[in-house]
Amino acid sequence: MTTVVIKIGGGEGIDPCAAAPEIAGLVRSGLRVVLVHGGSHETNELQAALGHPAQTIVSPSGNQSRRTDRRTLEIFEMAYCGKVNKGVVESLRTRGVDAVGLSGLDAGLWIGARKGAIRAVEDGRTVIIRDDYSGRVERVDAAFLNLLLDAGRVPVLTPPAGTPEGVAINVDADRAAAATAAALGADELLLLSNVRGLLRDPADPASLIESVGAGTIGIARDAAKGRMKNKVLAAEEALLGGVGRVVIGSAGGPPHEIYGAIARARDGAGTVFSGSARTEGACS
Ligand code: ADP
Repeated sequence: MTTVVIKIGGGEGIDPCAAAPEIAGLVRSGLRVVLVHGGSHETNELQAALGHPAQTIVSPSGNQSRRTDRRTLEIFEMAYCGKVNKGVVESLRTRGVDAVGLSGLDAGLWIGARKGAIRAVEDGRTVIIRDDYSGRVERVDAAFLNLLLDAGRVPVLTPPAGTPEGVAINVDADRAAAATAAALGADELLLLSNVRGLLRDPADPASLIESVGAGTIGIARDAAKGRMKNKVLAAEEALLGGVGRVVIGSAGGPPHEIYGAIARARDGAGTVFSGSARTEGACS
């Protein structure tokens, strides 16, 4: 049976609930579907409203992540696990899908180490941040997910993850989706967001890189800036973990219909990373 992990971003203009009708169709057709979603825009809004504005950490290699102090983690959970996750679960359940909303912290689903010290570039200087609640998923409880899938349930997953000691940590949802797809031996991983795919020039929507294989993974890594870097890394990690193929594509929205976005991505609209991209992998 085909297993598909679909990650829908949480950037501005993306509504993961809008994918519910199409996901309902996929589930009815017999596909095993795991949905992973983000919530970055909702979190930014809530942080601003609660007087604790979002801050971005930029690593020396240019990777971007949310500065997650304890207060940010609380607000992050309100947005990701509260508003967004329950909204998606409701959208699916009202369409007859037996959706189960869980964060990676629940049941020890996503386990990873908390970063002890983070190197960040601030005003051109490298500083060390020690009190951040963030990390990376290292282990996924695939047996638990399979129990749900075998029972006809559709897991709707979201950060945070947890440390082995049970402390909540902010993790990148693209890379968590990749780890989940690898642990499940998924056939496909779709990373859907507010862009058509990986662009050669982020400012030029016509510069889509249509496919990435062993010979072109270096081009893909160079093209990805800011938050796109994690998507390319996630694609590489998923392929290294045995996932059949990965598509970075659009979650829909103007000028495209939202309904059909998943089918279009599965048909290869976007950037398709094929198995051959894994041979040159050097994931951190
Ligand atoms: P989401 O929150 O939906 O997961 P992100 O905002 O994290 O998505 O990542 C998508 C963003 O990455 C795009 O909106 C774009 O601003 C940025 N980006 C950087 N480099 C590229 C690139 N080469 N191609 C496409 N998008 C890029």
